[in-house]
Amino acid sequence: MKPLLELVDVHRTYRIGESTVNALCGVSLTIDRGEFVAVMGSSGSGKSSLLHILGLLDNPDKGEYRIFGNNVNNLSEDEKAGLRNNVAGFVFQQFHLLKRMTIVDNVRLPHIYSGLKGDFRHEAIERLKLVGLEKRMDHTPSQLSGGEQQRVAIARALIRDPLIIFADEPTGNLDTKNSGEIMKILKGLHDEGKTIIMVTHEQEIAAWAGRVITMRDGVILADDRKAGLDLSAATVQESEFQTHLVGNSTLWRNGRFTGFMAQAVQSILANKMRSFLSVLGILVGVASVIAMMALGEGAKAAMQEDLKSMGSNMLSVRGGSAKIRGAAQGAGAVARFTFKDVDDIVLLRSLVKNASGVVNGGGRIVYGNKNWSSTVTGAGYEYGTMRAVMPTVGRWFTPEEIQTREKSAIIGVTVAKELFGSSNPLGKTVKINRINFKVIGIAPAKGFSGPQDEDDVVIIPVTTAMYRVLGKEYLGGIFVEVSESGKIDQAKKAITDLIRKKRRLKDDDDSFNIRDMTEIQKMLSSTTQTMSLLLGSIAAISLLVGGIGIMNIMLVSVTERTREIGLRKAIGARKNDIMMQFLVESVGMTISGGFIGVLTGIGISMVLSIFAGWAVKTSLISVVLATLFSALTGIFFGLWPARKAAELKPVEALRYE
Ligand code: ADP
Ligand code: MG
Repeated sequence: MKPLLELVDVHRTYRIGESTVNALCGVSLTIDRGEFVAVMGSSGSGKSSLLHILGLLDNPDKGEYRIFGNNVNNLSEDEKAGLRNNVAGFVFQQFHLLKRMTIVDNVRLPHIYSGLKGDFRHEAIERLKLVGLEKRMDHTPSQLSGGEQQRVAIARALIRDPLIIFADEPTGNLDTKNSGEIMKILKGLHDEGKTIIMVTHEQEIAAWAGRVITMRDGVILADDRKAGLDLSAATVQESEFQTHLVGNSTLWRNGRFTGFMAQAVQSILANKMRSFLSVLGILVGVASVIAMMALGEGAKAAMQEDLKSMGSNMLSVRGGSAKIRGAAQGAGAVARFTFKDVDDIVLLRSLVKNASGVVNGGGRIVYGNKNWSSTVTGAGYEYGTMRAVMPTVGRWFTPEEIQTREKSAIIGVTVAKELFGSSNPLGKTVKINRINFKVIGIAPAKGFSGPQDEDDVVIIPVTTAMYRVLGKEYLGGIFVEVSESGKIDQAKKAITDLIRKKRRLKDDDDSFNIRDMTEIQKMLSSTTQTMSLLLGSIAAISLLVGGIGIMNIMLVSVTERTREIGLRKAIGARKNDIMMQFLVESVGMTISGGFIGVLTGIGISMVLSIFAGWAVKTSLISVVLATLFSALTGIFFGLWPARKAAELKPVEALRYE
């Protein structure tokens, strides 16, 4: 039959710099189930060191410690944490209650780490009844006297129905009356069968125990057992230990996470200003990214709208090489196009919807005493619909006008403004290169395409332009409208083949070229890409800065709560539990910062669109990305502080001042 606890020649030495303190120098001792042991001795004699080792809060440097006959050195940290949660209850001189929590929450705290399902409020109230404090359960520790706080600590120690209660000077901070009450409670627990190991330096307190161990300078001086104590039923079965050890590790664990969430919210709210300031970096970063993305998207959408107004699915067939080449390679070979070519291209029915010949040139436009230099475009009948220049004021040419080389002109709004100011140009006669033209329409406004003013144009029939105004025999080029956008490449090839065949050109001939609008679109998307890159780096920088802010505050928080971490470990928190708690907290902060940032960003872009009239378009993707990245920032920058907290040793954390 094995004793409950057994120490064999245990040593514990503390090192502080060069010097060493031998707190325990060869302690051997057995404690059976159901004993009430008081450890006595003057201050510094090693009582607490002994209790910490017995309570699995500290490890011996040398010697063996067995629980139920199992060597503790063979247990992992997590198994020890599990045992602390399942088997032990701790009562400390300084109570170690968590100040932000109510009494009842303090009492049930060990259950977060038990892995059992349920909220255990009822059980906590039961334990509070045992110590006579159920009426105060919704108070916080600071509203209670020292004696009451210690009673709460005892209730907390009892919540997991432990086999052993470890008490380190439980009455050390209390007056005689309160001490008496605490001791009565402990005595009652002992009578119910709990094993109690209590450190004290007071004779009267030790007198409550059935066995008094006296220590001096790290060794046991005396070990007195009161007569008449029956411990015959007090031995422990091996199987019982295994249940305690394995106990909770495989049980339901989701409850922990919700527990951590609740605590994270509590802790963030407890320091509202501090939390807000530390997430400010993330907030500003996310808000500016959302707003700028909205602006960028808006600009892109507006540009695409513009592109559409230039006519979609357009090909432009021109003479000359697309690339600039050396003079040696037939720089002079430039294909010339005629109306016959236009007709042939239109015959590619399945690919081509429309085609129109054009010719361009400079023109001096005169009206009265005003004159203006502009671009003269000679256009075929189809050009108006193809390139979306059908006049909104006035009309387009008739096919007859084009046939008969009529002197009718459609002017762009820039030309109209320069020559006519605010008066109506329709029906007026202007001179284009000294030839009289009648203005029959005004082309719709198009704005600028790059540096070029698309409204600074005069459109006249292509025939008139060639033979009367510009004196050209051939077309300058052919505009082709492809039947659908998916067929652009196919159409390009068909037209190329057609022209080469007609002219008997070789395959590598480059006396003409065909461009499409995708080139413009490519240019546009590369601009957008540069913009996204810029926005991305702003986002990265602000998240970095914000993340450092979070890390800083988390480190402060870990330091501030060192004793809390110690207490949590004492009641059974594993490394991962502590780590998760702090991670959840930092991610919670960054996500809420990111969330407020998203709202602010959407707000800013709305203000810009309403008051400044800017085109904005908030995209879901930017919102999702911003939230995702702020969460990742929380994890990345919370990891180090969380690890730092998780690595703390229980005793050292508890002693931390
Ligand atoms: P007691 O509880 O009997 O007052 P302790 O067990 O706390 O004594 O301490 C025993 C000795 O070990 C003391 O001399 C104390 O100064 C020293 N000691 C305890 N903890 C530490 C520590 N973390 N670092 C250095 N010395 C320590
Ligand atoms: Mg002590």
